[in-house]
Amino acid sequence: MFGYGRSNFTWNGTLRELEGRRAPCITERGRPSMTASPSSSSGLEVLLSSLQNAGDVESTINIINVLDELLSAGTDRRIHYMISKGCSEALLTALVNTGRSFSPNFNVLLPLLHLLAKIGHRDRRIGVKAEDAGAALLTLNLLRQNIKYARRAAACLWVIQVFSSSVSTANLIGENHGLETIYRLIPHFTTENLHTIKAAIDAFAALLCTRANVCSVVSKGYVSGLLRLYEDWHAKAIQHAAVAICHSLLRCLHKVTHSTAGRQALVSQGGIRLLYGATQTCLLSKGLESLVEPTVQLMRKCLTKTPLPLTSDWSAYSFPVPGRAHAVPAMDVQPDENSDESDDNEAEAVFDDDLETDLNKLRLRPDPDRPKELLPQYSRLCPELSQDFQELCLCSEPEESSAASSSSSDEDAVLVSGLQLQRSGTDGGWSESSNSSSASDTVGHAPAAAHLEARDFHSHRSILTTSSSFRTQVRDASDDACRGQSGEDEQDVDASNHRSMIDRLLEKHGPCIPHHDPKMYRAAAATTKSIPGFSVLAFPDVWGHLPMPGHEPMAPRKPNVQRQKVFEDAQRFLITDGIINQVVFDLEDSSLQCPSDSLRFFSKFECGNLRKAVQVRRCEYDLILNADANSSQHTQWFYFEVSNMVAEVPYRFNVINCEKSNSQFNYGMQPVLYSVREALEGRPHWVRTGTEICYFRNHFCPARGRRKTTFYTLTFTITFKHNEDVCYLAYHYPYTYSALKAHLKVLQKSVDPATVFFQQQVLCCTLAGNPCPVVTITACPASRAWKDMHQLRNRPCIMLTGRVHPGESNASWVMKGTLEFLCSSDPVAQSLREAFVFKLIPMLNPDGVVNGTNRCDLSGEDLNRQWSKPDPVLSPTIYHTKGLLYYLSSIGRTPLVFCDYHGHSRKKNVFLYGCSVKETLWQSGSAVNTVGLKEDPGYRTIPKTLDRLAPAFSFNSCNYLVEKSRSATARVVVWREMGVLRSYTMESTHNGCDQGIYKGLQTGTRELQEMGVKFCHSLLSVTKDVKSLYSQRLISHMDNNVVDHKSHNCFEDDEPPCVEEIEYSADCPGLSAADLDSDVNAHTTAADEDEEGDEGPGEAKLRRGSVGQSLQSSTRGRLFPPAM
Ligand SMILES: [Zn+2]
Repeated sequence: MFGYGRSNFTWNGTLRELEGRRAPCITERGRPSMTASPSSSSGLEVLLSSLQNAGDVESTINIINVLDELLSAGTDRRIHYMISKGCSEALLTALVNTGRSFSPNFNVLLPLLHLLAKIGHRDRRIGVKAEDAGAALLTLNLLRQNIKYARRAAACLWVIQVFSSSVSTANLIGENHGLETIYRLIPHFTTENLHTIKAAIDAFAALLCTRANVCSVVSKGYVSGLLRLYEDWHAKAIQHAAVAICHSLLRCLHKVTHSTAGRQALVSQGGIRLLYGATQTCLLSKGLESLVEPTVQLMRKCLTKTPLPLTSDWSAYSFPVPGRAHAVPAMDVQPDENSDESDDNEAEAVFDDDLETDLNKLRLRPDPDRPKELLPQYSRLCPELSQDFQELCLCSEPEESSAASSSSSDEDAVLVSGLQLQRSGTDGGWSESSNSSSASDTVGHAPAAAHLEARDFHSHRSILTTSSSFRTQVRDASDDACRGQSGEDEQDVDASNHRSMIDRLLEKHGPCIPHHDPKMYRAAAATTKSIPGFSVLAFPDVWGHLPMPGHEPMAPRKPNVQRQKVFEDAQRFLITDGIINQVVFDLEDSSLQCPSDSLRFFSKFECGNLRKAVQVRRCEYDLILNADANSSQHTQWFYFEVSNMVAEVPYRFNVINCEKSNSQFNYGMQPVLYSVREALEGRPHWVRTGTEICYFRNHFCPARGRRKTTFYTLTFTITFKHNEDVCYLAYHYPYTYSALKAHLKVLQKSVDPATVFFQQQVLCCTLAGNPCPVVTITACPASRAWKDMHQLRNRPCIMLTGRVHPGESNASWVMKGTLEFLCSSDPVAQSLREAFVFKLIPMLNPDGVVNGTNRCDLSGEDLNRQWSKPDPVLSPTIYHTKGLLYYLSSIGRTPLVFCDYHGHSRKKNVFLYGCSVKETLWQSGSAVNTVGLKEDPGYRTIPKTLDRLAPAFSFNSCNYLVEKSRSATARVVVWREMGVLRSYTMESTHNGCDQGIYKGLQTGTRELQEMGVKFCHSLLSVTKDVKSLYSQRLISHMDNNVVDHKSHNCFEDDEPPCVEEIEYSADCPGLSAADLDSDVNAHTTAADEDEEGDEGPGEAKLRRGSVGQSLQSSTRGRLFPPAM
């Protein structure tokens, strides 16, 4: 039989002989041409040149054999060398020359087509080259003429598949009815011609790379045919080869369903049910296992887009923004039906394009955004400068501090109105005073203290009313609660009852949570203003939280969990028995009645976010999150109460409108849960919980409008420990604005005013009228002697801010650690207070935090993109923080360090972003010469120190690049406009660490607070004269506390590889070059079985003559440069 595989070919000639026959060759379109000078032409070029001009069959076959040998024995580098030397062009020319004749010689054509398939698959421009040579349609014609001959047809099909890598070639073949030809020839062949069938389906799939071809296939109704073929072949798939055909058919279906029409055709032709049925049998057979994943993906992709069951995508919370017409924008556009499934809407900026390379923008300070005259108002925020410490010696409590703690709201009002007076008239636009009054008129829902008390402990009350065993435990409290409920008009009585209820609970169960006082929390919450006017407190916020003893490891990912979940989702459409689909909670409809045996949900409390809950099956719920206020997007954060559960039953929860394209939930992160019953039994912990956690793209689309939105499902399963408990579930450890207010009061009480200068003031009021606290912490001077006072007034300033993004509650826990440490009696803290004045703005976005938004403030803007020119009315906290920074600069007290605390949902560890001109230019590959650029490398001191001190910190995750897209963030603006060298964003993971002593563990609030402490420790590294300022004792104290956590080695990937693909945008994988090679090779070497008609009479003779020795290495040496 004919064979030209690696072991049987002839190479009798020499290069010299070949050279003798050489003739000038193709030079069209400037591709590598054969040089006419024998001295400069390589052996390979000679060989190729001969191929195109060889007249006789034998030498052509010989050359093809040599080339095939070279290809099979070589590396990719050699193949690419061959391509660069014009191998594809030579083969195409030979193909056209041979194939054009009236009766082409398949003794030449077959090996030629096979070689062309193998080389062409590695040549990215093969399609264009084929078109130029006129080989594309020629091959299609050859196919049509040889449909009866399985081997010839297969060879043509492989080449067509390879040519279709170019869109224009694929379209050309499509326009010339290539798809019909191939589609119709498939049934011609039987299981004896598996190779040809597979080649046909692969070629068909390859042609579907263009929109035009997909449309044509769908309009001709081929989807149904492909599905039937799949059904047939799946039934035959016991044989391995048939499995490969099934894969090829799935590839066709995946490509067809890139289009909406294709997906609709698949669904209308019963494709989902067919695929579902096929998958069921796959799961039973090990050999068919590999078909499951692509089938499940195909089902998921084609499930009919289901609009979220909402009347509007717009947030349930809207807020009249000053200066903006208050109307929900007309967004009633139909969902974008044409959006390709493959389009990923994630707008991750391409890194290098985003880097700022304009040296002027990197180095020159822009003009201030406001006149100098507006700055003196901020002198009030530097009380340490004006403080006369006379009283310090006389009375135990500084006057200002006590004022702040007793009636801060009155003081706030004065301060704020003072600001307004100074500001009014300076601005042509919206006047601040008129705005804030209108805002507080329309929103300003601060629940009256008594009212709040009357209805607080919502959760607790429900425990009392639902659980009989629990009732006995807190019967007294229950009585109080009932009385409180009935007598809401008698507020005084009511309040006192509740006060006693809290007191009794505290007496009975009271855990001692450091720096937390439930009664103080309640008082703080009473003045918090929210859009809906919250009147209920979430139990964990009131009661407090203690970190779990010990560490919580990341959750192992169950194999195939995503497949299983998608499968269950597909079942909803196919097996409707047991599907309930009943709304059991609606934020906007409090009258909703739900079945007695369903879970109860609630989220109308501070930081709460759950808009709707739908019971899908008996123990499965779809949860829909509320978009950020005045917005229709940014859903990710959740925090809600759940009750009426049965113990030891697994409940599946699906948060179905998440927006980020990936999440640490796929990499070991778990949501957090707080059980009221556990808390009252002495375990007041938020715990990481949930199994079968998975985050994946789903089939939901917006209710109305908002094009191109892709939603993701976060699914997790929870088995509650107690019957009829009341539990809270959250994206991450909640930390409310009221918690901050209460915490600052507790801290204020805790410090020794004789040594610690602690003052809380109001930076400004937010849009909703919530005061934004600013805290000054430093050491009181040792005495009123000039030297001590002078030292105080010349202490460098450090400014720390946080929680500009409300969904990043971890930032608040880090800030809590920082605040507590700075107020503590720790010797390092004491030294830091003596060395620096700390200005802390712990919560830059109180309104967002209060109303449970994820990213924005009430105007629907990301406040961390407003720093360039913050609007005094719309972004007051940013405007005034920047004002304070300008003021500090104007009095020569520019902060030494600025750091904005954030949280990161897609990365592990804690790390810093800083700013460096040199690193940005280097990284961008900019042509700017950086040799002469001077840059203080001091921006690296803190990250380096943190790497040594803080176990969660990873130096290798830090970067110092200035991106254009981040030019309006705090970090970049403070660096560029204020000239703060050490200006950072600190990102803390929502998940955990992949290095150091916390490797494999999820972070808890303990680790987050520790990070806040370590950040303070690292500040000692920026004091120039540590030794003169601090005693050796202190240094050794630091050294003893250093944990060398060995994080210096991890240039690891951002994410460890997942057990399975977690992204859907990746299509069904295409055929690799190796796959095609093995198809072609299997065909040529297994060609011993006669295929009728494939061989002409001359073939046997030729084959016999072609059995020869293998290519000698000396010849190879002359054909290629060394080492190929
Ligand atoms: Zn952030």
